[in-house]
Amino acid sequence: MGRVEGKVAIVTGGASGLGAADARALAAEGAAVIVTDLDVAKGEALAAEIGAEFFEQDVSDEPSWVRLIEQTVARHGGLDILVNNAGIAIIADIAGTTTEIWRRTLAVHLDGAFFGCHHALPAMAASGGGSLINMSSTAALVGIGPYLAYSAAKGGIRSMTKSIAAYCRTQRNGVRCNSVHPGSIDTPMVHAALGGFGGPRPEGERFSDEVRRKLGLGEPADVGQLVLFLASDESKHISGAEMVIDNGDTVVQLSGPGGSG
Ligand code: NAP
Repeated sequence: MGRVEGKVAIVTGGASGLGAADARALAAEGAAVIVTDLDVAKGEALAAEIGAEFFEQDVSDEPSWVRLIEQTVARHGGLDILVNNAGIAIIADIAGTTTEIWRRTLAVHLDGAFFGCHHALPAMAASGGGSLINMSSTAALVGIGPYLAYSAAKGGIRSMTKSIAAYCRTQRNGVRCNSVHPGSIDTPMVHAALGGFGGPRPEGERFSDEVRRKLGLGEPADVGQLVLFLASDESKHISGAEMVIDNGDTVVQLSGPGGSG
């Protein structure tokens, strides 16, 4: 029996990086998975590989959410897990952030996660419960100078998650809502960021173990395992939590390397 056997899961931005790792972990443990993404070719290939379905979606488009949830419930009889993972990261500090960068970043991250939770919640509550998992970032906890809009959006996701968890608890609808806060993980988003700052790029899809250790990067599957735990009934008493997965990066920043800050 798989850890999420019989459950129905949607993973947004599931064609690449963390979303692909989440989709793999959930499918491997028995969930029926629907991968959504803008990238149709990569999304369909991943879905075929892991036995999932693919749904083309821009998460900032609300009507696409209505179609996605209706279709999922019609085909699978319900919805148990939503991973709001899709995201973009545009390098721009407070001086360089244009209105367009600000609006697009908030639309993808914050509107996307809001639409997802708003439209998935009634379907989950109707079947007695579920797990909403919102991909935030350590940027929500510390604020990253060169990523103004990204930090703001991830901070919004952190607070929205707690508000939803509080609502669900008072409604006693069985739905849990948690945020996940990764540090830097070895994905195309981080490869682009490192490249943007003149850093190394991997030769293939991933850095070697040695380079990853030197750069302090986690692996997508590390996050996939945390998402799997939050999706499964093993985490049935966890809601409103912010799960940091950064190998101690943020505590080192706060305490200083010598721990005497
Ligand atoms: P990634 O490899 O770039 O994957 C993101 C996926 O989301 C891509 O397939 C992308 O499609 C898709 N996407 C972008 N905008 C979309 C939209 N409007 N609608 C639907 N899909 C969309 O990035 P990642 O590193 O896996 O990041 C996944 C999530 O984790 C993001 O929310 C990110 O902020 C968060 N995160 C990542 C890290 C990290 O270190 N990697 C750390 C903290 C948080 P296209 O390729 O076509 O744009």
